[in-house]
Amino acid sequence: MNRKYVDLHLHIDGSLNIAWMYERAKKRKVIPEDMPFTAYYKTIIPDGEDIEAVFKRFDVPLAIMQCEEDIHDACYELLKEICRDNVIYAELRFAPQLHTREGLSQEDALRAAIRGINDAMDDYPIKANILVALMHQGDSAAVNEKENMESLLLAEKYLGKGVCGLDLAGFENNCDLNEYAPLFMLAREKSIPFTIHAGEMGNAENVHKALMMGADRIGHGINAVSDEKILAELVKTQIPLEICATSNLYFGYTYASHPIHELLRRGCKIVICTDDMSFVLNNMAYEFNMLNKVGISDDMLDQFTLNAIAEAFISDEEKEKLRKQLKVNTND
Ligand SMILES: [Zn+2]
Repeated sequence: MNRKYVDLHLHIDGSLNIAWMYERAKKRKVIPEDMPFTAYYKTIIPDGEDIEAVFKRFDVPLAIMQCEEDIHDACYELLKEICRDNVIYAELRFAPQLHTREGLSQEDALRAAIRGINDAMDDYPIKANILVALMHQGDSAAVNEKENMESLLLAEKYLGKGVCGLDLAGFENNCDLNEYAPLFMLAREKSIPFTIHAGEMGNAENVHKALMMGADRIGHGINAVSDEKILAELVKTQIPLEICATSNLYFGYTYASHPIHELLRRGCKIVICTDDMSFVLNNMAYEFNMLNKVGISDDMLDQFTLNAIAEAFISDEEKEKLRKQLKVNTND
């Protein structure tokens, strides 16, 4: 079946084509020019599985994406690739503050990413927007409050012009999630839609905090499964969880034991996403196939896609166009 997909949760810096990154990393001298592919591969997929090792995976893509050309090309190549994987719409997470090491401003970085996406949309049948990611850095929200505020104001400036909303990413447990509440209160006032990573590395209480901040979607949220009250909140509000099952295997789950099954049984609204395709070696078809193999029905998989369209940060007209594209798919 030629299924089409909508991916609302993938990080640009975690989803670049591994072979493309290898060539670009050599060209930018991020890795030695004579480094064999197998040795480079170990830096992308290290053996160590502690959380520090997992975050070190971002070193190479972030070291590459420090000039406008590379940010542009990274976004262009990523969109080209996921279009080939039958993704018809994607919301790509990008944290401009991580791309200023070599002199770019946050705005330069964001504009380069938007240009890359626009150029790919001109060349391939795919639509996409950027979710500007605010970052957890250090052990307090005060550490990069200035940078996060700048990112938020940029999201406002480019909203509807390549940006569709905000995210909060990074180490979820660095500090109390509520320290970010003032930023999201401001986002609410400015009518910027947002999703927050919560209940992935952190506990169920973080999902409650994200809901209280007014999150339109929750990134992961799987740990809500351990708290009846928070589960009830999710069911009542129907705020969707962006489930990235393969990415969560790191926490010791299998596809069969992943909380998605219980979350569905309870009536939570779910969308399926990839998260970091370079590191977990997945794509949307892979996620759907793996879930299908552990008992999630074809009808439910179809529903995930309809949920993703309904919960995307785009206009009703754009949603209707995507639904029409799915219908063409069914008649294939
Ligand atoms: Zn994520």
